[in-house]
Amino acid sequence: MALKYGDGIHAPMPFCPECKSMVYPKDGKLSCRKCGWTSEGPTQKKVVTTEATAKERVVVEKSVDTRQQQEIECPKCGHGKAYFHLMQTRKSDEPPTEINECMKCGHSWREY
Ligand SMILES: [Zn+2]
Ligand SMILES: [Zn+2]
Repeated sequence: MALKYGDGIHAPMPFCPECKSMVYPKDGKLSCRKCGWTSEGPTQKKVVTTEATAKERVVVEKSVDTRQQQEIECPKCGHGKAYFHLMQTRKSDEPPTEINECMKCGHSWREY
């Protein structure tokens, strides 16, 4: 899906197909004030849905990245699975610190 810049933003000036006068947005549709013609606007709705889906997808991917799981024993309760994420320390030349969070008791600890 290659969206060109400007797609869906600069729609051509809408004119009523019945009487050629200008139409105005009304209740999510285009409506002609002169003859009462309305457009269901399926193209506009489709663009909005696509954008919303794309945004949701980005959010999901992000949350998966930061909540990875690994099999590691919790030092507090002995549970064998924990979430882990990497935290970069202030000095960028140092390796990032690995933070584990037990999936059972929520205890968090560091691995070096
Ligand atoms: Zn009209
Ligand atoms: Zn635990």
